[in-house]
Amino acid sequence: VRPLIGISTSTLVSSEPSRLGMRRFALPTYYVSRVEEAGGVPVMLPYATPEVAEALVQRLDGVLLSGGVDVDPAAYGAEPHARLGEVDLARDTFELALVKAAHAAGRPVLAICRGMQLANVAFGGTLVQDIDSQVAGALRHEQNTTDIEQPSHSVTIEPGTELARLAGGSRVRVNSFHHQSVERLAPGFRITARAADGVIEAMEHEGRPWFQCVQWHPERLPTDALTHALFASFVQAAEGRSRSS
Ligand code: MN
Repeated sequence: VRPLIGISTSTLVSSEPSRLGMRRFALPTYYVSRVEEAGGVPVMLPYATPEVAEALVQRLDGVLLSGGVDVDPAAYGAEPHARLGEVDLARDTFELALVKAAHAAGRPVLAICRGMQLANVAFGGTLVQDIDSQVAGALRHEQNTTDIEQPSHSVTIEPGTELARLAGGSRVRVNSFHHQSVERLAPGFRITARAADGVIEAMEHEGRPWFQCVQWHPERLPTDALTHALFASFVQAAEGRSRSS
């Protein structure tokens, strides 16, 4: 039985004249493609109440937290920085409950971009709200969306971590489309990669179950070796989960 992978979604508000203001759940297609290629059965998760998040987890074998808008800083006890972007409180509420329930229930989690930031906040960490104005000497972390399938900066991977094993080395080149990053790491996690300016680019849970977080967008690097290793390992962990239930 192929494992069922729930993927979190965002909300799009229509600007089409005939549907002006209509809200729809949305997901970039790339997440679905990578899960499918790795052998998982992808399913989109619209956001609902925390109770529904917990009920959903019982039916899923793995959870993928997708990218999107900024996490509301109130969730980690901070005031909004002048350059905070758009936030979505309903999405935050759902995903915070989803990732905590998934981890507690032994489901593997893959967290990408905003997903990594959300996971860090869910387990007690904080965020840099705007890299350009808060990190001295910062690299360019926001590529144009038109060249997002090209790597733009390198990351140095911490030896001895699960990410290092998946990458098969200590240095990879990644794409970058974020203006926030992890500030104080949540308890229970270790930093697994940094950019040359010190920005945290990946983290993983120190224990089990499988829990990998990356700040870049592996779903937009479809031919990259680490993309394949990450999604394959994630789906395999979810498969183990589905066999043991
Ligand atoms: Mn970056």
